[in-house]
Amino acid sequence: MVAEIITVGTEILLGNIVNTNAAYLAEQCARIGLSCYYQETVGDNAERLAQTIRTALGRADIIVLCGGLGPTEDDLTKETAAQVMGRPLHEDAGTIAAMRAYFERRGIPFTPNNAKQALIPEGSVILENPNGTAPGVIIEGEGNTRIVLLPGPPGELRPMFETSVLPYLKRMNPEHLVSRTIKESGIGESIAETMLQDLIDGQTNPTIATYAKVGEVHIRLTAKADSPEEAGRLIDPVEREICERFGDAVYTDREDVTLEGAVVAMLRERGMTLSTAESCTGGMLAQRLTGVPGVSSLYAGGFVTYTCGEKHRMLGVPKELLREKGAISKKTARAMAAGAAKRTHTDVALSVTGNAGPEPSEDKPVGLVYIGCSVNGRTWARKCRFSGNRQKIRECATAEALTFLRECVMHGEAVEKREHHDKKNRDETNHGGKKHGGKKHDEMNHDGKKYGEKNRDERNHGGKMHGGKRKDRSHE
Ligand code: ATP
Ligand code: MG
Repeated sequence: MVAEIITVGTEILLGNIVNTNAAYLAEQCARIGLSCYYQETVGDNAERLAQTIRTALGRADIIVLCGGLGPTEDDLTKETAAQVMGRPLHEDAGTIAAMRAYFERRGIPFTPNNAKQALIPEGSVILENPNGTAPGVIIEGEGNTRIVLLPGPPGELRPMFETSVLPYLKRMNPEHLVSRTIKESGIGESIAETMLQDLIDGQTNPTIATYAKVGEVHIRLTAKADSPEEAGRLIDPVEREICERFGDAVYTDREDVTLEGAVVAMLRERGMTLSTAESCTGGMLAQRLTGVPGVSSLYAGGFVTYTCGEKHRMLGVPKELLREKGAISKKTARAMAAGAAKRTHTDVALSVTGNAGPEPSEDKPVGLVYIGCSVNGRTWARKCRFSGNRQKIRECATAEALTFLRECVMHGEAVEKREHHDKKNRDETNHGGKKHGGKKHDEMNHDGKKYGEKNRDERNHGGKMHGGKRKDRSHE
């Protein structure tokens, strides 16, 4: 089946809001195997919207519209869609009652213009909106034709799509589609794709798609079959192969596990506690870590030490070191991590210091970042070079720090060897900040464990190593 996405709102056309709904809906449609050839954005204008819907109806089965379901005059999506489909609108008593209850719960007066949201086109399915007032609607046309109307606010649209629209569309298409996402951190997208090229070229079922995120790459495998079990069986061997190639860069194969979540689970499994010391990231590491539920059992806290004075006062970084090497140096990163571990009595401490730009500082170039990690009294540090604006550099540094922590905890000694090796063969053009040359990684890969099915649970918690052969790692 073919889907088409229409986002409605003058705000989007003017660039006042970023059209995240279109990206979300497109990704969701792809996940359930709907082909999507066109996306449009239309302002709050009935005539142009009607024209757009008519065009979409001529080339797609499922038209997904979002925005303009609210109570105000310029919210006209539902009225326009109903008119194009030739469906009169009727007030729905259940929707009115649910809306009144919603207003009451929140202590907001119910104004008459809200009743407009309870008008439902004839021959529609109503989609509940527990996070707002406007219900969603699916207008059921002839054959497979459906017009899905969703509210604009992402906090309402996403849960509605997941709980109501996805099951509805899956019922329409009895073929089972199963997706699994392998997430790796530390290997950039272009290298990751090169490592997968032969598999991507030969892909049919499952399909393989890579998505670049900050400091990570997600690899989604999607298989079609008559049953979910069969689809899972098609995915298994491909997943095993990919995990073997990426080794312990893989931190999960679960959609809901984040990099910080995997780091926290790995430390919990080992009974280790954590603290952080940040300079250029100003608390972003602490922010990500404290977003993980239950992290309080192992995360003691974090220091934001911006000046050299505070690096000395709060973390005990020696004044002479700061004078000699400055705030941005490998030794400073190590001393920050060691200091944080000492002050908080934690087993592990992670530090970040660098120049996020836009101007060089201490004559250090923009994007130069050092990450330090202390594990049970031993410290390591890594030099990184990131590109992009201030925000991007800070985000990259935060993600790389989490990756470095995993590496140090899993293979501290090998990291040391590798950093030593890096120092001898320093390649200043190394923008990603780290290398994945087969040899260096082989050094880290000292436990020789093989990835296997039985290890999946551990991997999902980030606590498992995937010592594969890494035979395809020599692309850089
Ligand atoms: P409301 O009841 O809030 O008026 P609505 O369904 O009428 O909801 P709109 O008025 O179009 O939706 O948009 C409401 C808000 O939802 C926008 O101000 C914006 O914050 C968000 N929003 C709308 N469309 C999009 C989109 N395509 N991507 C991301 N956010 C969006
Ligand atoms: Mg609105």
